[in-house]
Amino acid sequence: FDEITKTDPEIADAIKAEMERQNSHIELIASENWVSKAVMAAMGSPLTNKYAEGYPGKRYYGGCQCVDVVEDLARERAKKLFGCEYVNVQPHSGAQANMAVMFAMLEPGDKIMGMNLDHGGHLTHGSPVNMSGKYFDVAHYGVNEDGVIDYDEVLRIAKEHQPKLIVAGASAYARTIDFKRFREIADEVGAYLMVDIAHIAGLVATGLHPSPIPYAHVTTTTTHKTLRGPRGGMIMCSEEMNKKFNFNKAVFPGIQGGPLMHVIAGKAVCFKEALQPEYKTYMEQVVRNAKALCNGLKSRGVKIVSGDTDNHLMLVDLSGTDISGKELEKRLDDAHVTANKNTIPNDPRSPFVTSGVRLGTPAVTTRGMKEEDMDKIAEIIAMVIESEDNVEKAKAMVAELTAKYPLC
Ligand code: PLP
Repeated sequence: FDEITKTDPEIADAIKAEMERQNSHIELIASENWVSKAVMAAMGSPLTNKYAEGYPGKRYYGGCQCVDVVEDLARERAKKLFGCEYVNVQPHSGAQANMAVMFAMLEPGDKIMGMNLDHGGHLTHGSPVNMSGKYFDVAHYGVNEDGVIDYDEVLRIAKEHQPKLIVAGASAYARTIDFKRFREIADEVGAYLMVDIAHIAGLVATGLHPSPIPYAHVTTTTTHKTLRGPRGGMIMCSEEMNKKFNFNKAVFPGIQGGPLMHVIAGKAVCFKEALQPEYKTYMEQVVRNAKALCNGLKSRGVKIVSGDTDNHLMLVDLSGTDISGKELEKRLDDAHVTANKNTIPNDPRSPFVTSGVRLGTPAVTTRGMKEEDMDKIAEIIAMVIESEDNVEKAKAMVAELTAKYPLC
């Protein structure tokens, strides 16, 4: 860090301010986490200096013998962690992983079916503002009035639209997803099934959410959310599916150039950590904390979409109150609680205003917080929803909690 201060004090100041922000705030963004010092060190290592287009043993650059070891280790550990035969650890992000899969399996204009963004899906599952929505013909499914996926309705839409690819997986869905049922639906209409476990990867890796690997034709993920690794993406499938679609070629040279070898080293370290029993203990606590936060909110009269959570996140439903998601995000930020506004199913407000806020427990759990702290956080959130006048009191309660769990 001293080196940055010497060379570029402006950037050093911004980093220091961000560290201070992370220390003093309660982090409830469901897709964020704190990586270990080992993952951080791998990302800041001299591997960032290396070009390595291609794959281990088949590179387009010399001097790749050391980074080949790194990528091989990352691949073998990922296979073990998720129980899959083929993995590609090169996608720079979750969006890149999804794009590579679509590039490999589809032709422009093909029909795809994904979860509606407003109902918890991701941009890359066919949103009109994303490449997936511009290059492919999209049909959407969503959740029913109880806030859960209605699989009969998914089947009905699939039969009507006959997609070539069905995408399962979400960014703001708090309930268990039935991947077996999704595969049955895909089979019934002759579609391929892609499952995106970006959010729930850590739960899948530890058996806390059923794995899609036995059912999906291809599975994608990010490595930086519940998995607690560096920012990045990954593709997994069987040898047979890879033979058919050649996902390696789709990633490079299809949609990317040189891989980020320092990030791949970070992924390898993250997978090693996730294979340890301590990681499973951590993920179990993430889920217990999410339940405790959810129960704490409900007991204080705060509505939750679908009424519960089975995973690491939940969606606060502000409909029927006079506060929007945007306003609650702002009040929480003023109280030093970080969360993001989110549309709720059939949201009457625009995506910039919204009637919901998404909350997740991966980061606070890494920080060491437990169920009783979640109840305190629920109290803070309920107070802030009730009135803007409570923000200062809430901020003092946050300061007490963050002081109890110092980060760095
Ligand atoms: N897929 C899902 C389900 C996600 O929630 C996200 C990120 O929020 C992504 C893909 C994209 O990941 P990235 O931001 O790394 O491109």
